[in-house]
Amino acid sequence: MSIEQQRRLVTELPGPRSQELMARKVSAVASGVGTTMPVFVAAADGGIVVDVDGNQLIDLGSGIAVTTVGAANPRVVAAVTEQVAAFTHTCFMVTPYDGYVAVAEALNRLTPGDHDKRTALFNSGAEAVENAVKIARAYTKKDAVVVFDHAYHGRTNLTLAMTAKNKPYKHTFGPFAPEVYRVSGSYPYRDGVLDGRKAAARALDQIEKQIGADNLAALVIEPVQGEGGFIEPAPGFLPALADWCRANDVVFVADEVQTGFARTGDMFASEREGVVPDLIVTAKGIAGGLPLSAVTGRAEIMSAPHEGGLGGTYGGNPIACAAALAAIAAIEEDGLVERAREIETLVKGRFDKIKDDRIGDVRGRGAMLAVELVQSGGDVPDPQLAKDVAKAAHARGVIVLTCGTYGNVLRFLPPLTISDALLDDAFDVIATALEEAR
Ligand SMILES: *Cc1c(COP(=O)(O)O)cnc(C)c1O
Repeated sequence: MSIEQQRRLVTELPGPRSQELMARKVSAVASGVGTTMPVFVAAADGGIVVDVDGNQLIDLGSGIAVTTVGAANPRVVAAVTEQVAAFTHTCFMVTPYDGYVAVAEALNRLTPGDHDKRTALFNSGAEAVENAVKIARAYTKKDAVVVFDHAYHGRTNLTLAMTAKNKPYKHTFGPFAPEVYRVSGSYPYRDGVLDGRKAAARALDQIEKQIGADNLAALVIEPVQGEGGFIEPAPGFLPALADWCRANDVVFVADEVQTGFARTGDMFASEREGVVPDLIVTAKGIAGGLPLSAVTGRAEIMSAPHEGGLGGTYGGNPIACAAALAAIAAIEEDGLVERAREIETLVKGRFDKIKDDRIGDVRGRGAMLAVELVQSGGDVPDPQLAKDVAKAAHARGVIVLTCGTYGNVLRFLPPLTISDALLDDAFDVIATALEEAR
């Protein structure tokens, strides 16, 4: 790695160059586009982000679970460099190229289930979720879509209807697309239902009574919820939902935009309980930072839309496809699925040692981990504490994100190429920040 893998602060954060750039941002960029940290980036790779003042920060965010293989992975850099010199774009719908087909083949091979599959490529997670809904509607000839409490599926109009949280995502942006119905999910820490089949029965009862399987095209679910708080459903929840979908001609769609590509210690999170989604939506970690997303699924479902019904100008751009093939090779050949599991052991080991009654729950899998912070001794969410700890970590050069419906979850999404030494340093900083926030 070209960047020394060490945290180092040479100015206060933000430094003078970042402050100058922030002033330009404020007068040039729409204020609706916020930033977690007022620090501008010059370079990044492995577990380090270097800012424009020469500070080296530890990356526990991966640009929101995107740079799983690092932000300048040599395989990705080489593949992209070669492709950009050959051609940047033709539009696959005009004159196709092999990279797109190779990514489709890779996704058909890697996603759960050994049935006949097809893939279509898009640009963003939200765009792929929208297309999964289009495909499910075309296949079932039904309209309704079921989503869950605490769900996040994107920021376009249809996906905002599917996303649960009002602020910051939905507030003032309605009206939203119709025929989207929200039912209760599985949140063992808060709902106390530890048997996933019971939680599923509750959701299925709502679906049958309020919507009806005959009207339902698709059930869309994150196998581990992301923005909603890194919520792992109780065991049995996902298989029960998938079984019900199969028995009722409803397309089971796994939104693995955040959980995919080794993030949770499996190539896809659905695998942990042997769930085989009818359609699986991927993006974020797919292409080493380049914008790409996909819908992969059963050939008969994927083939339901008429020819020309799916696509887009940039979908499956050749540079993004080259990056995806390189990122997938890195995940498979560099043992990154196993690395995600090692990261889970290391980080959970750190939190086992911290006895603090403001940590309500430590959860997640692989390198998608979180702690839910609460007021001492109870389970009342403490978003201010999460904010304070994140702020203190930021000031010391650790990039950490918050999430959750209540804003009280600290989430950890390091690149899988981060070193143990950097993780140790980062969690020392977070432990100190937690201590000082007392
Ligand atoms: C980020 C995310 C999306 C939206 O992806 P974009 O690329 O931001 O449109 C959808 N679903 C899940 C689970 C996500 O985490």
